[in-house]
Amino acid sequence: MGIQTLGVIGAGTMGHGIAQTCAVKGIGVVMVDVNDAALQRGLAGIAANLDRLVNKDKLTAQARDAALGRVRTATAYAELAGCPLVIEAATENPALKLKILQQLDALLPPAALIASNTSSISITQLAAATQRPDRVIGMHFFNPVPVMALVEIIRGLQTSDATHDAVHALAQALGKTPVTVKNAPGFVVNRILVPMINEAFFVLSEGLASAEDIDAGMRLGCNHPIGPLALADMVGLDVCLAVMEVYVAQFADSKYRPCPLLREMVAAGWLGRKSGRGVYRYGH
Ligand code: NAD
Repeated sequence: MGIQTLGVIGAGTMGHGIAQTCAVKGIGVVMVDVNDAALQRGLAGIAANLDRLVNKDKLTAQARDAALGRVRTATAYAELAGCPLVIEAATENPALKLKILQQLDALLPPAALIASNTSSISITQLAAATQRPDRVIGMHFFNPVPVMALVEIIRGLQTSDATHDAVHALAQALGKTPVTVKNAPGFVVNRILVPMINEAFFVLSEGLASAEDIDAGMRLGCNHPIGPLALADMVGLDVCLAVMEVYVAQFADSKYRPCPLLREMVAAGWLGRKSGRGVYRYGH
């Protein structure tokens, strides 16, 4: 499917990154958010990112202007009516996403596809909320979207081969490397990553090594670009805890139990970079 214009729901961190990535590759985007200020921030974020690329000679000024010209913003879902594909990247909230999927289902042409960028909500469940479950799929981009090469393509139980193939081809057209995974809590990357971060908190709380040495060990011994504790501070300790809570609830397996130290730090409001303190302290 050669997509000329697609819809993006949500203009936040992920939504505007997805919109930018599509626009740079020549695809028109209708970016919809319920919050006009979020749309303005999203557009400004795209413009600032593209300006940086121009300053580094990675993009011409004409290409930047053309990409910006491909992004249209709206607060009304009706603006999406002609889109063959909408990528949903709204706030991570199951009730909200189910409602958005139903709204899109009622609005879009029967052949249109709906992809969700959710990190933790079941694609099978989202698909079941629509009259087109075979045309619903997960398209899990990584942050920052314009930089990160991976897209996890998540097949719900009902997702058709045609839907999978179209979205897989789109990810490649965007210059990304798609990997196809079955629907399950955390999909693949976060299923492995977040328990590893949780284990790093156990190692820290058992006093086996300092935070700096745990991170150095994983950087130098496993060739990770960043240690697990420093990464937890970037992701947000509250986000890591919430993900572990989902695993322990959904798999009913104690191997996913959150580390008590992680819980303590979240209770203290030490959430990582965003709060100025997590495992490490940050300068504000
Ligand atoms: P965000 O809070 O930065 O942005 C969410 C946006 O959705 C906000 O601008 C909000 O106004 C908008 N929104 C809320 N309700 C809406 C509605 N009904 N219709 C349209 N827009 C609505 O969130 P984010 O970090 O961009 O995350 C978006 C999605 O991407 C979530 O599902 C999240 O799990 C997933 N995700 C996030 C990351 C990450 O690192 N931030 C990585 C991968 C996936």
